[in-house]
Amino acid sequence: MNKFKILKSTKKILIATNNPGKFKEIKELLPQKIRYFKPKDFNMKEPVENGKTFQANAKIKSLYGAKSSNIVCISDDSGIEILELNNQPGIYSARWAGRKKNFNLAIQKVYKKLKKKNKLNSKANFVCCLSIALPDGTSREFIGRIKGRIVFPAKGKNGFGYDPIFIPYGQKKTFGELKKREKQKISHRYKAFKKIKKYFKFS
Ligand code: IMP
Repeated sequence: MNKFKILKSTKKILIATNNPGKFKEIKELLPQKIRYFKPKDFNMKEPVENGKTFQANAKIKSLYGAKSSNIVCISDDSGIEILELNNQPGIYSARWAGRKKNFNLAIQKVYKKLKKKNKLNSKANFVCCLSIALPDGTSREFIGRIKGRIVFPAKGKNGFGYDPIFIPYGQKKTFGELKKREKQKISHRYKAFKKIKKYFKFS
């Protein structure tokens, strides 16, 4: 039997992120009739993210969340891969912003590194792995990607993280300039979510 059938009747889901931007985007993609919880609702600490891939880190977070809360848990591990920087920062995207999560700092870091190579408009991908875990230790992972390029100066106040320096292919505006619903229709997170929906027939 597919244990994930439980999702059809699930009334509570923990979204395992302390990043308010991510929490909002994930919640808006999921069914609205469910009650969503944050890690602090369960006084949870953050698990050590020592995986080498987006999938491994997403799985660490969702399994830890489901075990700690005893309810279904969804986690997201995501980031930006900049081709001219050998796909950095990748899984280290949050860490480039330092302890204080200062994304102006992270964007400055990208600028300096690309400027050195004279490749300010490098191709880039946003990647998102969503993981769903059950309290019994079972999980499934789903990956979504969106291709685009880096632009400077940073533009737009919508979204979060690296949004102001990323233009998706086929668009003229950065993720930071696009309206929230425009980003939500094409983003890496949405693409991962579409796979979840198809897999679980989740509506
Ligand atoms: P982590 O998954 O918690 O390790 O953090 C991923 C980091 O990647 C975030 O803190 C953001 O900096 C970046 N990131 C992931 N998704 C997005 C997005 O949709 N827009 C902008 N930045 C993102």
